[in-house]
Amino acid sequence: MHTNSSIELNQTAYQNNIDFLRKTFGKKVQFSSVVKGNAYGHGIKEFVTMAYDCGVSHFSVFDVEEAKLIKEALADKATIMVMGLVQEIDMEWIIANNVEFFVFDKIRLNQAIKAAKKLKIVAKIHIEAETGMNRTGFEKRELSAVITTFKKEKEHLYLKGLCTHYAGAESIANYYRVEKQIKKFEEIYQYLCDNDLRPEIKHSACSAASIMFPKTRMDLVRIGIMQYGLWSSPEVFVNYLSTKKNKTDPLKRVITWKSNVMSLKKVSIGDFIGYGTSFLAERNMKIAVIPIGYSHGYSRSLSNQGRVLINGQRCIVVGSVNMNMMTVDVTDVAAVKKDDEVVLIGSQEELTVSVASFSDFSNQLNYELLTRIAKTIPRKIIE
Ligand SMILES: *Cc1c(COP(=O)(O)O)cnc(C)c1O
Repeated sequence: MHTNSSIELNQTAYQNNIDFLRKTFGKKVQFSSVVKGNAYGHGIKEFVTMAYDCGVSHFSVFDVEEAKLIKEALADKATIMVMGLVQEIDMEWIIANNVEFFVFDKIRLNQAIKAAKKLKIVAKIHIEAETGMNRTGFEKRELSAVITTFKKEKEHLYLKGLCTHYAGAESIANYYRVEKQIKKFEEIYQYLCDNDLRPEIKHSACSAASIMFPKTRMDLVRIGIMQYGLWSSPEVFVNYLSTKKNKTDPLKRVITWKSNVMSLKKVSIGDFIGYGTSFLAERNMKIAVIPIGYSHGYSRSLSNQGRVLINGQRCIVVGSVNMNMMTVDVTDVAAVKKDDEVVLIGSQEELTVSVASFSDFSNQLNYELLTRIAKTIPRKIIE
């Protein structure tokens, strides 16, 4: 267990985000909380526990390993949907545990039938349709065979949903591509219904699509990044604001990442700091060493760039981010001492380091930055 830093999840902020999203989508749209990538770095078990306490009971994950972690945290209280990887050896576990899953090729469909027959339990399937992303999903021409199989095996298969995923709804540049996908998805839905295979629900929206293309909300939305209090892109945020009188951000950041000063040192003018020559002291300086490095998810590209908060002041990273440590300039932080709190993401007194500012510096998307935060750092829920 790392003791060099800690992560706090703010339940009040999360409840605020959920209330906002529920109000935006309306009562008829089911909310699925997307918690792949260790709940976008928030810590999957702690996060789903908090989400459940805020009234969320449907979770979407990438693979069976993540589904198992939700089971450990919430037992059978939540509905779980696996959107990505299901290996053959996990097929029986997934069906026996009443976990729903996407099926996007014949191999998986046949594995599901085989396991369902063996267990005598009906497999709850979401057929994923290829609509233009060209990643996973049945092609339209494959669907007639899928329909035939479904009818033949109807004691073993339940068609819970029809779904698809959009290829970049967060950017206006992809507007026509996404519109074409929406149209194609509706055609496929109609085709299934015309052939007497009506899915219980249909779903397609991620965060960006749910805001940019409200018609994609359908019966269920799969929301990742927005529930954590961040927008998929500045375009999505601006698009949201454009129709609103109140121009403030309705979302609140859930995560805070903190560490402490490990050591302090004086450096003389003309000396280099850290490996090599990337930082030359141009004045006499005071440096704080922070026990956080790229092995904990603090990107090396934040070398000489990143900002942290110490004693209510913004301090810049000097020299390169190392594997387990980095150095920050505290020359102008008068009272700094060993063990003082260091905020890597979050607020301290009047100042904030937002996830967005952090990822702009390192040219990473919000998503990538968050999921890189080491799994071993303890997560704690605060009210
Ligand atoms: C990750 C993912 C989502 C959620 O995306 P956000 O942009 O974080 O809301 C929805 N659907 C699928 C298939 C995904 O992989």
